[in-house]
Amino acid sequence: MENYYQGENHLNINKIWQEALEEIAKSVSIVSFDVWIKTLEVVDLKDNTLVLATSSNSGRQTILKNYKDFIVAGLNKVHGALSDVEIIVQNDEEQEISEPKETEKTISRPSNQILSSSVFNPKYTFDTFVVGPSNQFVVAAAKSVAENPGASFNPLFIYGGVGLGKTHLLHAIGNQITENKPKLKVVYVPIETFTNELVESIQNSKKGANTDFRAKYRKADVLIIDDIQFIIGKNAVQEEFFHTFNELHEKGKQIVIASDRPISEINPLEERLKTRLGWGLPADIGYPELETRIAILSKKAYLERYNVSRDVIHYIAESVTTNVREMEGMLTRVVFYAKMMGQSVVTMDTAREALKDIAAQNAETIDAGRIIDCVCKFYGLKKEELLGRKRTKDIALARQIAMYLITEILSMPQEAIGRIFNKDHSTVIYAKKQIADECKKNRKLAVEINDMKQMLKGK
Ligand code: ADP
Ligand code: MG
Repeated sequence: MENYYQGENHLNINKIWQEALEEIAKSVSIVSFDVWIKTLEVVDLKDNTLVLATSSNSGRQTILKNYKDFIVAGLNKVHGALSDVEIIVQNDEEQEISEPKETEKTISRPSNQILSSSVFNPKYTFDTFVVGPSNQFVVAAAKSVAENPGASFNPLFIYGGVGLGKTHLLHAIGNQITENKPKLKVVYVPIETFTNELVESIQNSKKGANTDFRAKYRKADVLIIDDIQFIIGKNAVQEEFFHTFNELHEKGKQIVIASDRPISEINPLEERLKTRLGWGLPADIGYPELETRIAILSKKAYLERYNVSRDVIHYIAESVTTNVREMEGMLTRVVFYAKMMGQSVVTMDTAREALKDIAAQNAETIDAGRIIDCVCKFYGLKKEELLGRKRTKDIALARQIAMYLITEILSMPQEAIGRIFNKDHSTVIYAKKQIADECKKNRKLAVEINDMKQMLKGK
């Protein structure tokens, strides 16, 4: 089963709700379901409580009295951590009467506009994002876009590895724009949701039903797309996104995109889309340095009111280097563990104990560092030589082999691999091809590479 959490609760609330609806439908009559349940709008997720909105107070009373238990049961069935619902009243009609005429349009949202501004995670703001050398450029770009949407870089293309804060930044942009310019229609969507909605709208239009899929995206003032890499190979989605992009861009509407890899590595992707993604500013978000990792953990501990010592924070920051989400997970685990033990302050001993299994797992998994060590050992080279600038034949070959093995064994973006060696991604692509070609001709090399693979797997 898919993990709904991982710091991205907001993304999947709607998915959880859609699945819960199917469960709830089994336990109430069709009419009740259509009138009372299906019409509820997802508003927020607060810890274990899903907040749903209905349009009148009398409706709210009816739901609380007759259907709340079914809703909770359905929800709980699809996601065990969700154990309560809150029903609030969101009355569009009343608001429209009290507001001046010209703002009517921005207030009455179509009822199926799932990804309205309220979806932005209030925890993901610029204030809660720690800035360091690895991300200061991308943060500056994101802030500039949030202050003046459509005016500076269009599109802003944020890319970087998993768990490095891309989604956090997208939400920070969304939060800031909706706060400062509430009239703007800000639409955030992971490309997978965009894909699902497109498929659905095509099916509906075949049935003759009216669909406002296009209107939703093409009328946005700010369109924020997450995880664009999942567009790879989906021609219909690329086509639709291309036209959406053009229409918005022509009107000067801001587009912000996040990807786990640089534009050149989103393959296969239509050339015309690639070109457009590069029109504005591509900005990469790197691995945070130790100092930044410590600052992130300290901030998180402060925000969540965790009582952890500096030693524990250092210990965690030193054990995870490439994924902030994972690092935060460790902190939560440690705090939880201490709580179970009845400790109010997390001690180093507790932290070590809580992370024992994870530490062992990490030591076993293969990462770029282990591959480099293995190649060095195999050819009797020093790590500094392999990662250095020297171009003697032996060292250059070993370097290419290391790059080749990393691309073969790990699913790491080529650009990130290049960074390890202080080279750009084209060097990695070249190394990969060189070694693959050479292995076909040179049996000795093929055997050596195979031996190294075995060595790595054997441990
Ligand atoms: P991505 O979308 O790049 O995979 P996320 O935006 O989901 O990553 O970030 C993963 C987690 O790490 C989130 O909880 C986020 O708040 C946190 N995080 C990442 N970078 C930072 C940072 N620089 N400061 C504070 N929190 C961060
Ligand atoms: Mg993300």
